[in-house]
Amino acid sequence: MANVPVPFDDRDGWIWYNGNMVPWRDAKVHVLNHGLHYASCVFEGERVYNGKVFKLQEHSERLRVSAELLGFEVPYSAKQLDEYTNEVVKKNNVVNGYVRPVAWRGSEMMAISARKNKVHVAIAAWEWPSYFSKDAKEKGLRLTISKWRRPDPQTAPTASKAAGLYMICTLSKHAAEDAGFEDAMMLDWRGYIAEATGANIFLIQNGEIHTPKPDCFLDGITRRTIIDLARAQGITVIERHIKPEELAQTQEVFLTGTAAEITPVGSIDNYKFVVGNMTKKLMEDYAEMVRK
Ligand code: PMP
Repeated sequence: MANVPVPFDDRDGWIWYNGNMVPWRDAKVHVLNHGLHYASCVFEGERVYNGKVFKLQEHSERLRVSAELLGFEVPYSAKQLDEYTNEVVKKNNVVNGYVRPVAWRGSEMMAISARKNKVHVAIAAWEWPSYFSKDAKEKGLRLTISKWRRPDPQTAPTASKAAGLYMICTLSKHAAEDAGFEDAMMLDWRGYIAEATGANIFLIQNGEIHTPKPDCFLDGITRRTIIDLARAQGITVIERHIKPEELAQTQEVFLTGTAAEITPVGSIDNYKFVVGNMTKKLMEDYAEMVRK
């Protein structure tokens, strides 16, 4: 029988909501809010290891920056967000899990213009062991190239972790799953390799790491952590524009993200890769680092 997950609005626990700790099921919004209708909504995804949020400050700061890029201000400092996040993690007894802060414009105006809308913030945390399966972590994910492309930064605020930018991610992910793949790799508006639907991508070519320049998609916190980790080990890391044809000269591929951590990729359409020693070593090092 299919495993039916418990719906996210029908769970026990507490959600930090506009300054108060509210029972999980009561953390509701009105249907007429700007975030829902016009995508003025930004969010974060954070991970808790042994009761501690990894890179919490970076995430709290990014939430604020994401909102600024959409023209609104999160009414709490990054330091306050850190504090509230720690409170909600503790209140829900999350030891190894996930945190979802979200900020959106409310209901004062229901039009394109949203000058008078109040900004709301909520932070939820729950126990959550892994995004991709253990099998995928061992054998590598099967990806397909999406028909959707990451937009030009002149078309959308691509550096923001904004809800609206995920419309094409869900479409890509569903199309990939319908075709029997686990995820999709997206190209950018120019046709260069960009990222997966919720994670950045790295290629290993002849012992060097190559990764797309984040000039039109999210420069992930995990991405930056891995680049630093690899460079500290003397591995050459090159950030550049990468054409999809180069997958033919690539031995290993992996994804990085707060949820994905480091997940190896076994194939992208007809291109095949090994789950090699460089990827395995980085996975081990990252797993150790996040728990320190
Ligand atoms: N790209 C997208 C589209 C994402 O959703 C994520 C996950 N937040 C990432 C990249 C990786 O970012 P991070 O390492 O900061 O989680």
